[in-house]
Amino acid sequence: MMKKHNFYAGPSILNQGVIKNAADAVMNFAGTGLSVLEVSHRGKEFTAVIEEAAQLFKELLDIPEGYEVIFLGGGASLQFYMVPLNLMHKKAAYINTGTWATNAIKQAGYVSKVFGGEVEVLASSEDKNFTYIPKNFVIPEDVDYFHYTSNNTIYGSEIRKDFDCKARLVCDMSSDIFSRPVDISKYDLIYGGAQKNLAPAGVTFVIVKKDALGRFERPIPTMLDYNTHIKKESMFNTPPVFPIYVALQTLKWYKELGGLKVLEKRNLDKAELLYNEIDRNKLFRGTVATEDRSIMNVCFVMNDEYKELEAEFATFAAERGMIGIKGHRSVGGFRASLYNALEMDSVKALVDAMKEFESKH
Ligand SMILES: *Cc1c(COP(=O)(O)O)cnc(C)c1O
Repeated sequence: MMKKHNFYAGPSILNQGVIKNAADAVMNFAGTGLSVLEVSHRGKEFTAVIEEAAQLFKELLDIPEGYEVIFLGGGASLQFYMVPLNLMHKKAAYINTGTWATNAIKQAGYVSKVFGGEVEVLASSEDKNFTYIPKNFVIPEDVDYFHYTSNNTIYGSEIRKDFDCKARLVCDMSSDIFSRPVDISKYDLIYGGAQKNLAPAGVTFVIVKKDALGRFERPIPTMLDYNTHIKKESMFNTPPVFPIYVALQTLKWYKELGGLKVLEKRNLDKAELLYNEIDRNKLFRGTVATEDRSIMNVCFVMNDEYKELEAEFATFAAERGMIGIKGHRSVGGFRASLYNALEMDSVKALVDAMKEFESKH
């Protein structure tokens, strides 16, 4: 079979060795003679898995004392509601940088309707279809937290720095967690769906500073209370066993590779190669302001005078094994997701296809 280059935005590529380990455990998990799909989450083999996964989160991200790592269901989308439910008392500030940020703001609005509290949108790039990251805004000091999306998966923009501010920082890192070192001590809460850079769909990770919780009285339903899951070490209800198992395999692979500095370098190299080609090639152009370009999701379209070649290029690339490069419907054109597990040779294959297509036209 021809090698497939998997550029899907999520669920998305996993490392081949990780998939092999997962397949082995589907047949025989940790020498139990049972599949990982059919074991109790309370058995000692699986509790060892979830503990090691949390431990590797702490080690790879250099998470300081005072933080907890928990694994939940419900996706990043449930976090859009859980964050304000647990943390917003008087006022929360957001920036709107894309679809996911919009959804997060909307859910905070629901919490504010029921419990009070104000949701302030400090800045938005919706005026230009989220093609840039707003820069001129001030994060107020008196808010319960400031929320942002570090990587805008759909629009291909990214904030690749940790904000310095007095307010508590909350970040949706669904699609760029583990792509670079992060100064965790600046954050009170980081969350994400694991299906972009870590695991198959089904598990959500939350890194939370314990001191951020329980700061005001509010009746929080048990399942939506972070403290429930902290106290029960992600075992209050049945956790997503298989995705957590696969997440552990990915984390072990990250450690083997040398950690987040090494991953960041790989990611920067991959993104540079592709963006350089987009900028050089007369057929294509990037859609995002150069300084805000994501190294995880690269969005590009055909230049206006070549627009009619779009479908032809899609077919041309598909014939060369490229999968999942169709752009999201809100941007059009193409999107190549370059998550950690995507190897440089896949980016080279895409760049070669772009060059070849250019010379054909
Ligand atoms: C994919 C994604 C989400 C949604 O995740 P679900 O797990 O499907 O709820 C939220 N935020 C970002 C940045 C994403 O990339």
